[in-house]
Amino acid sequence: MVNTLEKYHRKRHFTKTSEPEGGEITPYKSPIFVLQKHRATRLHYDFRLEIGGVLKSWAVPKGPTLDPFEKRLAVPTEDHPIEYADYEGVIPEGEYGAGTVMVWDKGTFEHIPEGGETPEKAVEIGHIAFRLNGKKLHGGFALIRTGKGGERWLLIKMKDEFANQMWDPDKESRSALSGRTMDEITNAEE
Ligand code: MN
Repeated sequence: MVNTLEKYHRKRHFTKTSEPEGGEITPYKSPIFVLQKHRATRLHYDFRLEIGGVLKSWAVPKGPTLDPFEKRLAVPTEDHPIEYADYEGVIPEGEYGAGTVMVWDKGTFEHIPEGGETPEKAVEIGHIAFRLNGKKLHGGFALIRTGKGGERWLLIKMKDEFANQMWDPDKESRSALSGRTMDEITNAEE
């Protein structure tokens, strides 16, 4: 099997960062998703879906939206180990992704196949639809690759009873894991 965590490992020094090295957890029965708020050089959200034994990952600069008429840019990043879904803390200065990480939302998801394809195949094709069962996020979403470069995807809310044009992710300021704010997580490690 191809080690899809190679990039993840290459970028980090596990003697310095508190992030997990991974490889301990076997896949969950119901695949999980996590959205981590990450105050690095620029504040962004990292969206991850458990697919093929790893967390497939996208950086979403503006965070998710519940407005089906808005599209949010999602830039693919390296696969992360499943353990990363519970990672909340501060990546030290000088390390890759230095800054505070919050588990902003976490839960399970159901892939919605368009034609019987697996989630792995859907990601490869560049079009995956899914239903989220989180604490903050619910209902249908899709991640769609646009253009030829392959570096640009869009995160879109599907029209359903959970769509909401008035909702703003920045107003949901507490961790789904610990109830802490970004500042509380930061201060806990100082
Ligand atoms: Mn990040």
